[in-house]
Amino acid sequence: MANNSTDTLSNTVDITQDIAKKSSQQPSKNKRLYFPIDYKQIELFKDVNPLEWEDWHWQIKNRIRRKEELQQLINLTFEEEKGLKLSDSRLSVAITPYWATMIDPNNPKCPIRKQMVPVASEFQVGNHEMRDPCAEDRDSPAHGLVHRYPDRVLLLATEQCASYCRHCTRRRLVGEKKEIPSVNKLDAAYDYIRSNKKIRDVLISGGDPLMLEDEALENIFKNIRSISHVEFLRIGTRVPATLPQRITENLLKIFKKYGPIWMSIHFNHPKEITKRCRQACEMLSDAGIPLGSQTVLLKDINDKPFVMRKLFHDLLKIRVRPYYIYQCDPVKGTAHFRTPVAVGINIIEKLRGYTSGYAVPTYVIDAPGGGGKIPIGPNYILSQAKGRYTLRNYKGKIYTYLE
Ligand SMILES: *Cc1c(COP(=O)(O)O)cnc(C)c1O
Repeated sequence: MANNSTDTLSNTVDITQDIAKKSSQQPSKNKRLYFPIDYKQIELFKDVNPLEWEDWHWQIKNRIRRKEELQQLINLTFEEEKGLKLSDSRLSVAITPYWATMIDPNNPKCPIRKQMVPVASEFQVGNHEMRDPCAEDRDSPAHGLVHRYPDRVLLLATEQCASYCRHCTRRRLVGEKKEIPSVNKLDAAYDYIRSNKKIRDVLISGGDPLMLEDEALENIFKNIRSISHVEFLRIGTRVPATLPQRITENLLKIFKKYGPIWMSIHFNHPKEITKRCRQACEMLSDAGIPLGSQTVLLKDINDKPFVMRKLFHDLLKIRVRPYYIYQCDPVKGTAHFRTPVAVGINIIEKLRGYTSGYAVPTYVIDAPGGGGKIPIGPNYILSQAKGRYTLRNYKGKIYTYLE
């Protein structure tokens, strides 16, 4: 299987030339050898006009949700068919048409596909798995608010996402609840932030806050920014990767009005960084929003050092600074995604020193039971006594530092 892992990288980013070359060289049975491709080449979307395609509401309305639709795009495996059937009553399935264009229809190992198409294993509960592994509900002083660290809070602004990741850590909350997220429900959260002067940083996440309409989002920003001790806002989102069409001029205008706003974007694989995604990220950066990434370590998706290295290098090229790699939380139904911790440590070991420091995120375990994020990494301190530190460098050479 040595070739397998290289396959996952064989068609990233600048693929347009490859498409042209391939299609002129060999008349292929399968036109979708390289992805993403022009959506017009996909039977299901061939009649969509470009204005619709670029309209984020159209993308949301036309998400792929049912087996019958997905079957028209990809050749479903038995495991996937079973997963789709079982997911009816559990974490919703939704895949934006944009994301669907990146899926390899013939390869069940496609990293883009595995993140969004459920399989039967999702419905088995593994050892030590929990409903709410990070015990967020316990640390919630008001509806939608998690207060764990002294000076910052997490605000869960909506339950909805553009596409649902099968490894979601908040699957207990996330999904389509039909009701429009009621912004008034957050009043108690605003009151809590207002009455707690230590809170200087509010991280707005969900679900995906960029699923809210501009007006609803602006309302949240306005409420929080009216609290004088809040110094800045952060947004946690996957939308630049799953629905880049959402990054509109009007949205940027709102961001600029309520800044400083920082953004953490969930990226797991270099294939996610398409030309369209790059465009969205550049719009955000140009609007003055510093971008960071959050990556979940996922078995057979990004658990090889060379895949992570490529991801982080490609992110730096679009001005996204790798921020965190998360050990996949022990949430129910995700055992098939989880790797040993040593896999994550080895990834950091293979990055640190060998590439730009900016390309090395912090690998963390969000402690089960609510301890928060704990940084995990290779040990560079071999011993420490009486002002004498024995250290090793990235190549394993030993050095002494005297205090
Ligand atoms: C991750 C997280 C934060 C933000 O943590 P940083 O390390 O500052 O990015 C805040 N609150 C909760 C509950 C979190 O899980």
